[in-house]
Amino acid sequence: MADQKEKVLAKPKVGIYGFTGCAGDQLLIIHSEDHLLDLFNAVDIRSFVMASSKPIEQELDVALVEGSISTEEEKAHVKEIRSRAKVLVAIGNCAVSGGPQAMFAADGEFAQRLKQVYGETKFITDPVEATPIDAHITVDYYLPGCPISAPQTFALLSRLIHGASPDDYMHPVCHECKMNENRCFLVDKKFCLGSITAGGCGSACINVGLPCVGCWGPNRDGNFASVVKQLISYGIAYEDIMRRIRNYGGHKILQYIKDVKVR
Ligand code: SF4
Ligand code: SF4
Repeated sequence: MADQKEKVLAKPKVGIYGFTGCAGDQLLIIHSEDHLLDLFNAVDIRSFVMASSKPIEQELDVALVEGSISTEEEKAHVKEIRSRAKVLVAIGNCAVSGGPQAMFAADGEFAQRLKQVYGETKFITDPVEATPIDAHITVDYYLPGCPISAPQTFALLSRLIHGASPDDYMHPVCHECKMNENRCFLVDKKFCLGSITAGGCGSACINVGLPCVGCWGPNRDGNFASVVKQLISYGIAYEDIMRRIRNYGGHKILQYIKDVKVR
């Protein structure tokens, strides 16, 4: 009976971790005042590097992992977290795609760039080219964003806590832009990446008159070749288009642009 009571009252154990990035996703969670008390009531936060200096590193029901993997030490750490977590969620563009720090991914010049920036200084231990966390471990769910959005994050957590599978959000930014009844930048031959960018921001930039620069990372159903071709037809240089696409596309963008051959 006592066991049963304990089982009913047991809160899911959650750990929130940060690797290489700006920590904006952890900050978003801390700044979600409307949801924070509900979250702390519903789950047992075991580890949250930004909020507590006393982590309890044991088995976890859910691990939320932010940031790209950019050192050998981070590689080992993310694997160790995975080994303790029943469910692991990548949160934010850096964890999902590799982030801006991976914008030159696989160009063969990582070592040279590292030297250019840091010289011979060795204060970063064993740096490696930044990669998304799923280059090293299995990820169960993805929350894109730069940073993540509170509604998507708490909807996912709520579903996980109640034993349901979270929805996979498939829509690009364009979908939200249409819902918000904005005039499309492409109609005016302007440089907008909304159709190949993962949705969830509510078309925040377009709503205030700025084109999407793709900060939520690539939308997996995006037709990259077609969009590049279209933008070139507006007189925008191929190099500028690719630079912008790669800016937030991280390491993962390589799989989406491999067939883009328009020059
Ligand atoms: S303005 Fe940009 S995000 Fe909005 S519909 Fe056009 S291409 Fe898509
Ligand atoms: S750049 Fe694009 S994805 Fe990022 S917030 Fe603006 S509209 Fe959303």
